[in-house]
Amino acid sequence: MSTNESGIERRRFLKMLGAAGIGSMVGSVTGPSTVDAAAMSVTTRPFGQTGVQVPILSLGTMFDTGANQLLLRQAVKWGVTYWDTAQYYNRWGSEHGIGKYLAKYPQDRKKIFLVSKSGNRDAAGLTAELEDSLNNLRTDYLDLFFVHAVDDAESDLTREIKDWSEKMKSKGKIRLFGFSTHSNMAECLSHAATLGWIDGIMTTYNYKVMTTDKMKRAVDACHRAGIGLTAMKTQAESSWISIGRESAESKSLTKRFIDKGMTKEQAKLLAVWTDERIAAICSQMNTMTILKANTQAAVNQSGLTASDRRSFEAEARATAAHYCAGCTATCQSVLSQDIPVGKIMRCLMYSRSYGDHFRARVEFRDIPASIRSQLGALDYTAAEHQCPQNMPIARLMAEAVAELS
Ligand code: SF4
Repeated sequence: MSTNESGIERRRFLKMLGAAGIGSMVGSVTGPSTVDAAAMSVTTRPFGQTGVQVPILSLGTMFDTGANQLLLRQAVKWGVTYWDTAQYYNRWGSEHGIGKYLAKYPQDRKKIFLVSKSGNRDAAGLTAELEDSLNNLRTDYLDLFFVHAVDDAESDLTREIKDWSEKMKSKGKIRLFGFSTHSNMAECLSHAATLGWIDGIMTTYNYKVMTTDKMKRAVDACHRAGIGLTAMKTQAESSWISIGRESAESKSLTKRFIDKGMTKEQAKLLAVWTDERIAAICSQMNTMTILKANTQAAVNQSGLTASDRRSFEAEARATAAHYCAGCTATCQSVLSQDIPVGKIMRCLMYSRSYGDHFRARVEFRDIPASIRSQLGALDYTAAEHQCPQNMPIARLMAEAVAELS
């Protein structure tokens, strides 16, 4: 770190101390791992122009929350009170586990910014799933409700959905409404910014996609429109490279941050938090170790320098072909069959980078058998030519069939 960078980071840290209150920012400026765990408290940011403040770290709950009640309790103690769930997470276990927690600690309900979501696109289906979620979660309202996995905002975000969201708000069932997206994110965000009735969006956003011009413009449009943004998939995990088989560039990045007293995973969170248009990062934190490490990073955000950010950008360029950027309109539109390339890339990512083979197989088998049976035989040449990441799509589709069927 140059003297100038060090000075800038120190001034920024001191400014943050002033804004956050000295009691909430403890430990040394040298790295997240030095923070005093007992005294940690995650700071908040405005969720767009909704008037709501949310913790900058959100608990992703695609795990057995019923068996992890202590983790939920600790999350509240550390101020990680933005909880993201869905009915299908952990086969309904996530919502039921949170419901169990809220039944035991009803006084915590008002502290928690509670989010659930539905894959439905019609009013009747949305109502049915919202009611189920409220029952599972043992609450009578959600702070935010998402239409899940929007990949074409123009066709998905219909007048029927707008009317439904307004009706649910007037009934007090939801406070805010929006959608999640991990495909064609820039296009979805840009369109949402023109609508005037989207309060929040959870989007794939990480050091690999946040530097593209179209994503910068899309985030800017949402920020100006007052939409609260939550980043997910911030680790930018690979669909290709397995655990323990990192590229030389990635290993170099790991060493760089270890030398600075933080993990590369913590540094990736910091890279996203440097963008103050992002209200929060949603991270799957299914162990106390991950919860603690991410909370430490959230509490002490002083460690990233301009040089670190340049290193991230260099690694992103060098490993582009390892990462599916979710631009499914690009590759899927040139295939002769309707193949969910982006979804299959995510299944491979869950299996190879998360080490979650079970989840990968469940989601892969969710794809109709008639489509799965064609995956190995299709010609992907045109799709590979279109792919901005130069991903070996044919090879990966064949590997998905072999590994996940
Ligand atoms: S395979 Fe390539 S074109 Fe298709 S979604 Fe991924 S990055 Fe985009």
